Amino acid sequence: MNVREDLLRVHHIEPLSRANGPGMRTVIWFQGCSLGCPGCFNPQTHPFEGGRLWTAERLFRKVKRYSTLSEGLTLSGGEPLQQGEALVSFLARVRRQTSWSVIMLTGYAWEEIGALPWGSAVLGYVDVVIAGRYQARQRLARGLVGSANKTLHFLTSRYTLADLMQVPEAEVIITPEGQVRVTGVDPVHRVGLQR
Ligand code: SF4
Repeated sequence: MNVREDLLRVHHIEPLSRANGPGMRTVIWFQGCSLGCPGCFNPQTHPFEGGRLWTAERLFRKVKRYSTLSEGLTLSGGEPLQQGEALVSFLARVRRQTSWSVIMLTGYAWEEIGALPWGSAVLGYVDVVIAGRYQARQRLARGLVGSANKTLHFLTSRYTLADLMQVPEAEVIITPEGQVRVTGVDPVHRVGLQR
């Protein structure tokens, strides 16, 4: 779905976050998702035309500068697995050159991931997967899990369910430039903002 299969289309990079996984993490929200979950609260990440294009190497160099403060990457969306080929190239660099953990939030169900062209290869680089379409009627918004139908998969021993349950549901980030960003699995309700 990218214009080139060696490019990653990224909506936003948050250098340091505490509400998108255990510890301090660097978060990449990918741009582009065709899964269309009703009630998705990131609709601005759906078009495949938006965001910014990165080669795997440039994106790796961009995020690596945060690796002394961050214990890992969180991949969110948009849909990371709809950019599987370039994502594998990026994650291979992460694995080779850092000790970062990787958490991936995907709208694909666990059973679907293995059937995707690059699904199994991506899983080889990931520690935790949170899988499944967001279902607004089953909204949960705890422990990184948006709705109760989603499933959690701990592919390495790096994290446990208890680690995820300690992740704050929301955070407000104020940048040195004065920009205010709200992130997390339940940002709107926790900080009392109107959508
Ligand atoms: S998979 Fe994620 S980004 Fe895509 S529609 Fe569902 S909740 Fe939204």
